[in-house]
Amino acid sequence: MKVSEELRQNRVMKLRTAILWQPGGAGRFGILLASMALVLLLAHLHTLAGLAYEFHVFFAAPLALVAWFLGLRWGLGAAILVVALWLRADQMLGGDQASALPLILNSVARLSIYCTGVWLLVRLRKLLDVETRLAREDALTHLPNRREFLELGRQALAQAQREGTPITAAFIDLDKFKEVNDKRGHAAGDALLACVAAGLRARLRASDIAGRIGGDEFALLLPGMDGASAKAYIEDLRHRLLQAMRGRQWPVTFSIGVASYARAPADLEGLLAEADSLMYEVKNGGRNRVLQKDLSSP
Ligand code: GH3
Ligand code: MG
Repeated sequence: MKVSEELRQNRVMKLRTAILWQPGGAGRFGILLASMALVLLLAHLHTLAGLAYEFHVFFAAPLALVAWFLGLRWGLGAAILVVALWLRADQMLGGDQASALPLILNSVARLSIYCTGVWLLVRLRKLLDVETRLAREDALTHLPNRREFLELGRQALAQAQREGTPITAAFIDLDKFKEVNDKRGHAAGDALLACVAAGLRARLRASDIAGRIGGDEFALLLPGMDGASAKAYIEDLRHRLLQAMRGRQWPVTFSIGVASYARAPADLEGLLAEADSLMYEVKNGGRNRVLQKDLSSP
């Protein structure tokens, strides 16, 4: 990939992350505070500028911020506050001549416009969140899909490289999984895949990354894990998965290739390809085994 294209993609990614940011407690409070301060400032400016100036768009900006990041309830609350402040400013500017009917009608119109806008923005945000999750998640197992796994993997690898720490990648392929589909049906195959994913999830540490890479293929990336620990860890994982298979009508076994580096290499694809080819060695050698190798970065 060309450097300029990579930079452009990075920028798009950063923008997307910022737009879809899910703020925590402090972030939410900050957004609320900043938006309300802006609303108060605008209301004050309105009283200074006079009735000739239109303030719809300016008031809409902090409202949009609240609706987008804090949700419907806060958005509607902020809309009511904006309309109330605006009404108060209009009353002050109109002085004694301010008659009640147009003020009320204007306020109702403003409230309807803002509430509709808030509602639409909140719906749009929800749809975007769902779409983003679906694009990154495997629908059957709810593990990261291939694309998301590679993206998370690249970030983890870059960090491990910066810190000069070890890393391990594992490729797991179910043995003779097609037989489950053939003999028990596709739904039983699906349930078995979900059971494997649950088994993986239950065993992983917070820093580990698991993904469903293809049909019956799963991959793991284990930052900070060197070859000596990886062998025991993955062997234990295989036994746990076999145990989870015990209650099933058509259990399968697992072929696992594990590539470990004492210092994280630069190339994620290369690391995964090593684990993949070790997994194929296991397949060719009779399946149902872990084959682990210590490798060193070039
Ligand atoms: P091997 O031991 O050599 O790995 O053979 P296998 O029978 O496990 O088959 P292989 O790994 O070559 O192919 C995986 C099969 O998984 C192919 C496809 O029929 C099945 N499969 C792929 N995706 C799904 C899925 O989402 N649900 C179900 N039920 N089956 C799937
Ligand atoms: Mg298979």
